[in-house]
This record gives sequence, C-alpha cells and structure tokens, in this order.
Amino acid sequence: MTLRLYSSLGREVREFKPVTPGQVKMYVCGVTPYDVTHLGHAFSYVQFDTLRRYFLAKGYQVRYVQNVTDIDDDMILVSKRQGGRPIAEIRDENDAILRRDLDRLNVLRPSAYPYATDHIPEIIEATAKLIESGHAYEVDGDVFFSAESFERYGALNGLSHADLGKLENPESKRADKKRGHLDFLLWQVVDPGDPNWSSPWGPGRPGWSIECTAMSVKHLGTQIDIHGGGNDLIYPHHENEIAQAECAYGPAPFCGWWMHNGMLQLDGVKMSKSLGNLVLARNLMAEFEPDHLRLYLLSHHLRSDANFVHGDMEAVAEKYGRLKAVATSEAAGGGATTDHTLTRRFDEAMEADFNVPVALAALDEAAGRIASGVAEMGEAAALRSALATLGFGFAGARGPANGDVTP
Ligand SMILES: [Zn+2]
Repeated sequence: MTLRLYSSLGREVREFKPVTPGQVKMYVCGVTPYDVTHLGHAFSYVQFDTLRRYFLAKGYQVRYVQNVTDIDDDMILVSKRQGGRPIAEIRDENDAILRRDLDRLNVLRPSAYPYATDHIPEIIEATAKLIESGHAYEVDGDVFFSAESFERYGALNGLSHADLGKLENPESKRADKKRGHLDFLLWQVVDPGDPNWSSPWGPGRPGWSIECTAMSVKHLGTQIDIHGGGNDLIYPHHENEIAQAECAYGPAPFCGWWMHNGMLQLDGVKMSKSLGNLVLARNLMAEFEPDHLRLYLLSHHLRSDANFVHGDMEAVAEKYGRLKAVATSEAAGGGATTDHTLTRRFDEAMEADFNVPVALAALDEAAGRIASGVAEMGEAAALRSALATLGFGFAGARGPANGDVTP
C-alpha cells in the first residue's frame, strides 16, 4: 500500500515509511485528569484509534502509547480546592470516567498508558542530559531549556524565534529567572506544601513537556513514527518535545509524522472548560448508541475543526441505520475478498491522507446499492469488513465494546 499522511512538521503530505519496516510506533498526548473530559477528547481518541486500526488492518504491528499528565498546575489547584484531596484520587476518578467512555466508543486500549508521576527518574535523567550537553541550565532550583541552543526550535510551527515569541505561551512561567524569552521549564521549584520529588537541583517537580519526552522515549524508544494530539499542543508543547528529544537522545527527526486533530466547536465556538460550552460524550451516549457517536465523530476529517450543532446526531441517524442494517445482515456474513471494488475505493480514500469521511461516503453509497438490490457480489461482506476496520462494534470490530480489552 502507499499510505500518504500529512505531517504538521513541513506542512505536507508524504508517503508513510516507519522507522522499522512493518512496525508503527505511535504516541498520543493524553489528558490531564483534573476534571471530566468532553466531546473534543472523544474526537481525538476515536480518530487516532481509527488510524491505529487502519495500520493493524494493513498488517503492521502497532505500539500505541498514551500518557496521563497527573502532575501539573491544574491538578494541584483542583487538589487544593478539594481541601487537599490526594492528586492520585482525583486522577483515578476522572480517568475511570474517561476510560469508560472510550471503552463504550470501542477505542482500543493503549499498549502502554503511563502516568507522569511514575516517570520521575526518567524525567530527571533527561533533564540532566540536557544540562550536560549545554541545552539547559539551572537557576536556584529551576531548570530551563535554552531555546536558543537548538537551531530547529520553531520548525514545527514554521516560525522564527522572534515570531514564536509573539505567540501566547502557557509555559512562560518564571520570566524573571530565565535567560531567553522562549526558554521553558524542565524542572521547577514548588510552592511550600505542593507535591515534590528530590532531584540533583533540590526538591521540585517536572515541567510539562519533559514528561512526554521521558514517557515516549521509555515506552517507544528515541525515534517514533507518529505523534498525535490536538492542534492546540503544537506550540509550545510539541515544539518543546522535539527540542528535548533531539537534544537529549540524538536521532533526528524524533518523530516522522506529527498529526494534529482539529478543535471541536459548539455552535461555532471552540469547546473549552473555561468557556463552559462543553458537550460530554457520555451524555450523548445516554441518548444514542456509542457506535452512532463514533460514526458522527468519524464523519469529520482528523484535522477539521468540526462544529457540533444540536441535531447533528439525528442528522447521521439515517446513515447509521443503513450501515448497521447491512453490516449485520446475513449477506454480510460471507468472507470479504480483498480485491472487491468497494474495498479498493475504501483503501484509496484512507491512503489519501486518512480521509475517513470520503471512505465513509463510499460505504454509504454501497449500503444504498445493497438496500436497493443492485449491489455487486460480495459487496455487503466488503462493507462489513471496512466498517470493522473503522472500529465499529456492530460490524464485529475487536475492542472493549466486544469484550476485548487486551491491547
Ligand atoms: Zn504531551
């Protein structure tokens, strides 16, 4: 197959070639479980789950790692607001809700699901390496990465250091202590009473981005094929990850394909906790079948800023009913041949930059032909097989919804 995928690094579509033939190493940024997640998270994880499944269907071995950021400003703030409630308890409560939602959406469980707080030694090791190699420096217990020391800093965003400096930066803490405006924390001194770990620079806790570097290197090695996450992470988080990994561990590029999902909107406004305009996956799944929601989410391309409007679920109901009826019919029971016209059309769409909406349109057309009795031989079986590749439980896809929770 010739799969072509868009990478944010270089902003181009390129033929996919993994570092190790036959294997795909994927890392997707997980959540900070200080609160419940919303439909935007479900959009991201369903999209990357479907990409992972497509690789599996094509015979690749896939290792999929998704982290949990269980120590950061938000976690500490929520813990304080809840009277000093242990962070691990807050994490476990919110994580259980997210996992239940993703299980119902038939998202395969990650091959590894690391917690940042379980990787403090690896974070300290990466930070020490960066200091040793001259890419980081310590100021009174805080350790900063020196953006100036890495020439390619900014490449992911396609911006010069000067232009990056104009962007909003949630990691711009400790401006008074750092040498360069773009420098960011690898290790930080904590406020009295906040969770901390001992380190060569005194007690403290990790910066944000270094956590993902430590976890991806530990669980996938120093070079990976695909790094996923929301496009709100491109700066500074992913720009920082590239700098850290390539300066501490060497091989470049650290990641071959940077894939970023768009931001889900509600009535044209980005869904966010701060605006309070959240739609929750679990509320939709109280009313609609989880596969129905999966179909809605996959009806938008990975990179699109899908705009959720009330009534959207109803709008895909007819298509959902048609696809499900064919996939569960007796005619779909026969084995699908891989050279069926429908399978080829499906693959063509998927190989052209993972165009799931176009693939789904081809499947819906086929469902229409089958329903009117003018389908080709074997079309129902080919349809069912494609829907299974897209992760639909009703079409027999493996996954938690069908009792398979082993990655
Ligand atoms: Zn991350």
